Amino acid sequence: MTRNLPVVAIIGGGFAGTALALQLAGKAEVTLFEPGPVGPGLAYGTAEPAHLLNVPAAGMSPFPDRPSHFADWLAAQPDAPPPPAEGPRFAPRRLYGRYLQELWAAAATEIRHVPRAVSRVERLGEGGGNGRGFRVTDSAGEVFEADRVVLAVGGFAAGAGAPPHLAGDPWDPAALEGLAPDAPLLLVGLGLTMVDVLLALRDRGHVGPVTAISRHGWLPLSHVTGAFPPPWPMPLVEGAVPGVRAAFCWLRAEAARAAAAGQPWQAVIDGVRPLVQRIWRGWELAERRRFLRHARSAWNLHRHRVAPEAAARIGAELASGGLRPLAARLVEWRVAGEGVEAVLARRAGGTELLRVARIILCTGPEGGRAWREAAPVAGLLAEGLLAEEALGLGLSVSPAGVALDAAGQPVAGIDVLGPLTRGALWEITAVPDIRVQAAALADRIECGKYDIPV
Ligand SMILES: Cc1cc2nc3c(=O)[nH]c(=O)nc-3n(C[C@H](O)[C@H](O)[C@H](O)COP(=O)(O)OP(=O)(O)OC[C@H]3O[C@@H](n4cnc5c(N)ncnc54)[C@H](O)[C@@H]3O)c2cc1C
Repeated sequence: MTRNLPVVAIIGGGFAGTALALQLAGKAEVTLFEPGPVGPGLAYGTAEPAHLLNVPAAGMSPFPDRPSHFADWLAAQPDAPPPPAEGPRFAPRRLYGRYLQELWAAAATEIRHVPRAVSRVERLGEGGGNGRGFRVTDSAGEVFEADRVVLAVGGFAAGAGAPPHLAGDPWDPAALEGLAPDAPLLLVGLGLTMVDVLLALRDRGHVGPVTAISRHGWLPLSHVTGAFPPPWPMPLVEGAVPGVRAAFCWLRAEAARAAAAGQPWQAVIDGVRPLVQRIWRGWELAERRRFLRHARSAWNLHRHRVAPEAAARIGAELASGGLRPLAARLVEWRVAGEGVEAVLARRAGGTELLRVARIILCTGPEGGRAWREAAPVAGLLAEGLLAEEALGLGLSVSPAGVALDAAGQPVAGIDVLGPLTRGALWEITAVPDIRVQAAALADRIECGKYDIPV
């Protein structure tokens, strides 16, 4: 490796860490710490053919400057499902995972991979560590030094280790195993994770009745079928950021105008999406809190849409009665014989006692809070080198992703990438946003721009 390049430790090799490492290849001395396969992470490690990307292939390149990179790769895969006659292609997520692994294999000669988790990160004082700023210790006790540390640990860990009648981690294959084909099930959550779980169950031959609950009882909405319309123009005057109520009125009005012009509401959401980070950043804490309390569910419903193929299968489930969506809350559950009794409080009033073989938690990635307790974040939080963002959405960071300490001061040399920067940006979950964040960070690292944009 070349000397005098910045020495960077990237912690986590899911999409975010891998995208950054690929973009830094040859520009920095990178060590990537990832105990699992590099690339797929939680989202693209699935083996289920029914788990589709929820972003068209044309939007999934890890490189903002080469947007068709994944779509071109996909077109050359003989085992990929054929593209639809019309409209965008939603590839199986496992193929995307394979693509990331192939990209990684091609770049791996330039990037060091440590196949272990990081258990500790320490900031070194003046003169310590050969002038390097940080000491990183992995789970085997091996010590590394780095100028910069990037936390790309995801933030989506689900509740592993739950008892067999309550599967806390819906992406653990064991959550779907050992069930009789006609076993009745309760899925807690009605979003994209529920779709993943239900379709994977059906592909395994499960035919039993499935009740799925959420606060509102809303089912996921679909992308448009056929060719995508262009994003609806959503001009926002520089400096003018509408509050939550005004923003939703604006969206509704534009959706009505779009409909009058023969365009679907999805085009309006696609039109506003590039502005979401700016709007979020323009909101005071109280306005963000208002959004989370009153508008989050409605926004997520319209923003996170399923591929039309998956939506069609959910429609068929509803028509056949295989899936019963319900606006309700799980208030209590207890083991009863071979299964579970669940007590549901219905939004419409009253309770319902449901006997099922298993409850599977499908509350989705945003519900995961285990990152607070996991190394190395927990240690850095305890030392005050990291702080939780005020609304509990992730870590406290500047809009550029620089970690802020417990006193709200930027910590030079610690950057956060991906969903844990949600508190500063909100819209930073999917590939089209994370790749831009990774490219900007790679640029800062490569150019030695160590001054901290907050
Ligand atoms: C089920 C699901 C489906 C999704 N589908 C799409 C989609 O179709 N399109 C889209 O654009 N977005 C999708 N997303 C959003 C997705 O989160 C992002 O695209 C992206 O995968 C996030 O990557 P990440 O690297 O931040 O997190 P993760 O994929 O969770 O990766 C984090 C990695 O960090 C590692 N790690 C954790 N702690 C340590 C440690 N201490 N030391 C070393 N390594 C550690 C973990 O092993 C893991 O591999 C989906 C998300 C989920 C959960």
